[in-house]
Amino acid sequence: MSDIRHDWSREDVRALFALPFADLMFAAQTMHRKYLPSNEVQISTLLSIKTGGCPEDCAYCPQAARYHTGVKAQKIMDVDDVLAEARAAKDAGASRFCMGAAWREPKDRDLDAVCEMVEGVRALGMETCATLGMLTQDQAHRLKQAGLDYYNHNLDTSPEYYGDVITTRVYQDRLDTLARVRDAGIHVCCGGIIGMGETLEDRVGMLHTLATLPEHPESVPINLLVQVAGTPLNGTPVLDPLDFVRTIAVARITMPKSMVRLSAGREEMSDETQALCFLAGANSIFYGPKLLTTPNPDADRDRALLDRLGLRPMTV
Ligand code: SF4
Repeated sequence: MSDIRHDWSREDVRALFALPFADLMFAAQTMHRKYLPSNEVQISTLLSIKTGGCPEDCAYCPQAARYHTGVKAQKIMDVDDVLAEARAAKDAGASRFCMGAAWREPKDRDLDAVCEMVEGVRALGMETCATLGMLTQDQAHRLKQAGLDYYNHNLDTSPEYYGDVITTRVYQDRLDTLARVRDAGIHVCCGGIIGMGETLEDRVGMLHTLATLPEHPESVPINLLVQVAGTPLNGTPVLDPLDFVRTIAVARITMPKSMVRLSAGREEMSDETQALCFLAGANSIFYGPKLLTTPNPDADRDRALLDRLGLRPMTV
């Protein structure tokens, strides 16, 4: 049987989660070495180009206008300021620059500015990524024409648990945007958040959905919930770090060629947990002091950790 499968059953995915920890890690590391360079980590930088004031109600998100989290709503940034940030990120070793905007969906006039940003970041020789909410087919084509390499649009959790976390849109809306992004020829970055009070079966359901898409997302960010005061998920029982590591390993096995990205939540993880995540097949991180609006380890701590583990930044 090929390793690159799109016919995973939930039972298959459940069985992976149930493996003894060492067996799961061995299987994940074996898969990683078969399809991806070992000891290389792709580094991305994420910039919030339009912060806060979002009309959606994602229960984890400090940028939703309806939660009182202290995040100040800001207008979309000037193109020149975004490009200055991209240049600094490149100098710090990032090969991909991701631009995030807190919108339900972009208005067509907002997209003009985003397209200019994409063109400018591309001209610096970096890969480009954007996360702007739901897209129409026409908007996806416009972004592709501007040179967008990746579009991030997370499924967040299982289809069953989604309505407990977000009520202002449905799972199918996400799947529809993902299909439009694919149709436009843009690479897909799609993953979810662990530690939102979901069950193991929800983790199974999320990875099963991702691994049975017609094409696996090229990037699969696995986030650990960052609990922010004022959001409904603040106070959720803290996840066992080994459950997070297991989720990374199952993502690696079910989507062998994807970049599995350790995303939000690294600030609260020990170096040892992060090391286990790399061993489980994570091969991508975000650099920089802030992930949209929540803290991220500073670049010095990251560099020191990569050095201690003998990991090298991947080049584009
Ligand atoms: S996650 Fe995105 S869509 Fe949801 S509230 Fe936050 S900014 Fe809005």
